[in-house]
Amino acid sequence: MTEETILLALSDPHVAQLMAQGALSPAGYRYHIAKNLSDLASKWGESAVVLLDPKFLGKDPMQRLQDWRQQHPLVRVIIVSNQTTSEFWRVAMRAGVADILQPPLRTSTLLTALSDVLRERQNFLEQVIIPLRRSTQNLQDRVEIFERLAEVGQMVTGNLDLDDVLNSTVDAAVTLTDAQEGSLLLLDRETDELYVRAERNVEDHFSRTYRLKVEDSLAGKVLQSGEPLLISRRGPQKIKTAYLVHALIYVPLRRKGETIGVLGVDHRDPDKDFTREHVLLVSALADFAAIAIENARLFAHLQSERDRLNAILLNVADGVVVLDESQKIFFINPAAAEALEITGGPQKAIGNPISEVVEHAEFISLIQESAQHLPEREEIHAKDGRFFSVQGARIPDIGLALTMHDISSLKELDRIKSEFVSTVSHDLRSPLTAVMGYTELLSRVGPLNERQAEFVHRVQQSVQNITSLVNELLDLGKIEAGFDIHREFIDIGSVVQVAIDELCSLAEKKRQHLLVSIETNLPALLANSSRIQQVARNLVSNAIKYAPFGARIEVHVYQQEQQVILQVSDNGPGIPLSDQPYIFDKFYRASNVPDDVAGTGLGLAIVKSIVEAHDGRVWVESYPGEGTTFTVVLPTATEQ
Ligand code: ADP
Repeated sequence: MTEETILLALSDPHVAQLMAQGALSPAGYRYHIAKNLSDLASKWGESAVVLLDPKFLGKDPMQRLQDWRQQHPLVRVIIVSNQTTSEFWRVAMRAGVADILQPPLRTSTLLTALSDVLRERQNFLEQVIIPLRRSTQNLQDRVEIFERLAEVGQMVTGNLDLDDVLNSTVDAAVTLTDAQEGSLLLLDRETDELYVRAERNVEDHFSRTYRLKVEDSLAGKVLQSGEPLLISRRGPQKIKTAYLVHALIYVPLRRKGETIGVLGVDHRDPDKDFTREHVLLVSALADFAAIAIENARLFAHLQSERDRLNAILLNVADGVVVLDESQKIFFINPAAAEALEITGGPQKAIGNPISEVVEHAEFISLIQESAQHLPEREEIHAKDGRFFSVQGARIPDIGLALTMHDISSLKELDRIKSEFVSTVSHDLRSPLTAVMGYTELLSRVGPLNERQAEFVHRVQQSVQNITSLVNELLDLGKIEAGFDIHREFIDIGSVVQVAIDELCSLAEKKRQHLLVSIETNLPALLANSSRIQQVARNLVSNAIKYAPFGARIEVHVYQQEQQVILQVSDNGPGIPLSDQPYIFDKFYRASNVPDDVAGTGLGLAIVKSIVEAHDGRVWVESYPGEGTTFTVVLPTATEQ
């Protein structure tokens, strides 16, 4: 008690000196005599009691006193003053003064007052301040624990390095429980043993060799039961030979209801112990570790899936290009990079706009058009001579995926087949002409009876069919081979009209209504006149052929922007939906055709070849039972 410092702030320094040396010092108190107001202010907080004459405080002394009392509630104040009015007492008490003494003072009075005030202060310290500090410390410790738990939690979600996360989790378990050592054991399913995956303060050679059977170990029991284990100071526990501990905690690491390992902390020091609260803490950390292990497993799984997918995409023979919404390359495999002759290979191309790395004009225009219509089996010709069939698909949230399938061998086969067909067709022409000639001569060399004339007529019809098939095959061969390059400025209106005039009589025979509307002043086309006429003839003759008696056939030719459109519609039987994708293929005749309707199945294939050779497009819209419309779109000469 006498160790306390007494601060003297009296208006008469001699009185202060006398009091200090005559009474305080002999009683064992330390003291300090304030020289001025600022000296008083600086020493105030370090003192236990201030012996104060209010005059020392200058102007408005009681207010200042009140302020300092509030700042330093442990400093007790004894007023030494002659002012003893009741008003003074009231104000002094309100300012928190502990006692008031009136000079001249007797030493005993001073010392008694001092010891009373100091005793009251000590009581206040013990009953209020110390417990308060203790619970504040407790709270602080808890806050630290939560902060540490939050830190570990944050690391688990933000760090994919499993070693890092598990070591930090064990570290946190050891520090938060004040343990001596800690380890995280995982189960090796093959051997049914636990091995150390992370540790803190465990001897190195020990942690490397530490493997224990699940059945005969404490950790194994925790693993099997899935329940935490707390052993506290029940005498040394033999965890494994040469490993003695006095207290330990083992908690299970659970993943999806299955226990995969154990997190443990222990004390080898017999004076230290664990509580249930420590078990809760270590359990929380074990949950974090289990999450980290699960995250790492999912990540490794994803990574390996990704690697497998990458390996497949990198090694398939087909080219694959994936573009993002801004047409930058998101992925490209070596096959595509090679076909598109990208310098520097696929890796360099990724992230760049496709138009900057690919020079292939056909491919680029195909991508630019993909906003309107996705490429569907479009053919492109690579610079190295190969042909590719390109197909596009939209991938939600990514962009456009294009696959490039090498069809060079099919193209070659097709070419050989066409060549063969052309040769055979060509060679058939002369014998057919001879057969036709001789059948015509037959009646001239002698009279034929009715049956003979009938047979001759049938032979002639068959020869005509074969001749038209041969002619169509030869036509198709020529168009496909690109030999049909003659182009001139044509007025499509009059070309179509000629074709219609040729077919009018056929329509009349079937009492069909042939309605023709051809826009005037149509722009010129740069085209092969006889081929365009063939297109119109094939489409209109099909309509006449397949639509029934009395049907209505409409032909429209009109301009739309820089294109001319030829549309042929009928209200005939329509084409079954399942046949529609194939009607432009060679020799394909749809299931709606009655057996007695003659045809080769080549007409629409010829139409398609001619239209495409003119950079146009043709398609069909048909509804069974309602009718069919064929639309041909051709670019005008200016557009071309
Ligand atoms: P074909 O010699 O059989 O007429 P095309 O190539 O001209 O050969 O036509 C292919 C098939 O398309 C026809 O066999 C027929 O089934 C169908 N088709 C073509 N035009 C029409 C049409 N206007 N109405 C109904 N079916 C049609």
